[in-house]
Amino acid sequence: MKRPAHSPSKKDILVVALGGNALIRKGEVGSVQEQFKNLRIPLSQVAHLSRDYRIVITHGNGPQVGNLLLQQECCDALPRLPLEILVAQTQGQIGYMIESTLDNELMKLGLDIEQRFLTVLSYVLVDEHDPAFQHPSKPIGPAFTEEVAAGLPYLTVKTSKGYRRVVASPKPISIVEKREIDALIEMGFIVISCGGGGIPVIKESRMFHGIDAVIDKDLASAKLAEEIGADLFIMATDVPGVALSYGKSGEHFLRRLGLQDARRYLTEGEFPEGSMGPKVEAAIQFLENGGKRAVIASIEDIQSALQGEAGTEFEK
Ligand code: ADP
Ligand code: MG
Repeated sequence: MKRPAHSPSKKDILVVALGGNALIRKGEVGSVQEQFKNLRIPLSQVAHLSRDYRIVITHGNGPQVGNLLLQQECCDALPRLPLEILVAQTQGQIGYMIESTLDNELMKLGLDIEQRFLTVLSYVLVDEHDPAFQHPSKPIGPAFTEEVAAGLPYLTVKTSKGYRRVVASPKPISIVEKREIDALIEMGFIVISCGGGGIPVIKESRMFHGIDAVIDKDLASAKLAEEIGADLFIMATDVPGVALSYGKSGEHFLRRLGLQDARRYLTEGEFPEGSMGPKVEAAIQFLENGGKRAVIASIEDIQSALQGEAGTEFEK
C-alpha cells in the first residue's frame, strides 16, 4: 500500500503502543487508581516527546476487556453485550484515562495550551474467514491458577502470568478511520486510537458489522503506522525488550535484532502467540512496509529507547 506523503519539514510521526498489561502491573488488582498511576510513567515521557515528534498513542486492553466480560457473566438480570461492544467500551475508558493523564503531564511542562489531543473511536476491518476464529489465542482478563482454570467454562491457556481466558484474534486488514486520524495529525493533534486493537468489524457489501474478537493491538498499531505513513514505532510493555530463552535458564535480552533473525526465532517458537509473537511480527511488518525504526522496550524506557539506549531495536 502507498504510504501518505508528509511534508519533510514537519516533525517525524511516532506511534507509541502502550501495553494493556503495563497499565495493570503484575500483582495489582487493576483498580482505576492503579491504572491512573501507571499511566503517568509512559505519558510523562510522551509529553516530553511531543516537542520533537507528532505522536499517535495506541493501547492494549487485554486485562480490561477480559474484566468487562467477567462482569457481564456475574449478572444474569441484564442482556449480555458482545465482545465488539466491550472493546468499544475499553476504547472509551482507557482513552479517557490517557487523555486526562496526558493533560496533566503536558500542563507540568507548560505545553497544555499548544499541544492538543483527541481520542478517536476506531474500528478495524478483519476477514470473517480468518483461521483465528477457529483457534482462539488472545489472552484476556485476570490470570488464574491451574486448578481454578480447570473448572472454568471457557478455554484458557498458560501464559507467563498464569492461566488466562483466550478469545479469537483475527489479523487487522485496515483501519477504517485512517483518513480522519491522518487529518488530525496534520492539524497538530496527538491522536489516541486503535485502542484494544480496534473494534473488529467485517464488511458485507458497503456495511460494517462488529464481530466477536479482540484484535492484537500491536498488529493493529503496525497497520495504522503503515497506513498513516509513520516514521517510528515503539511498543512499550512490561519487559525490557525481546529476550531469547525467555523465562528459562539461558534468558538474555537483545539490544538489536535483525529482521531475518527475528523471522527465524518466531518460527523456532521463541516468541509465543498472544504476547511477544505479535509484537515481533508487528515490528517486522512495519519495517517491511516502509517504516524507519521499530523498537520494543519497557514502559519506563520509552525516551531512552528512542535515543538508542534501551529496549530492542529491529534492524532491516
Ligand atoms: P502487552 O500488554 O504489553 O502487549 P503482553 O503480555 O502481550 O503485553 O506481552 C509482553 C509479555 O511477553 C511479557 O510480559 C513477557 O511475559 C512475554 N514474553 C513472552 N516471550 C517473551 C520473550 N521472548 N521476550 C520477552 N518477553 C516475552
Ligand atoms: Mg499484548
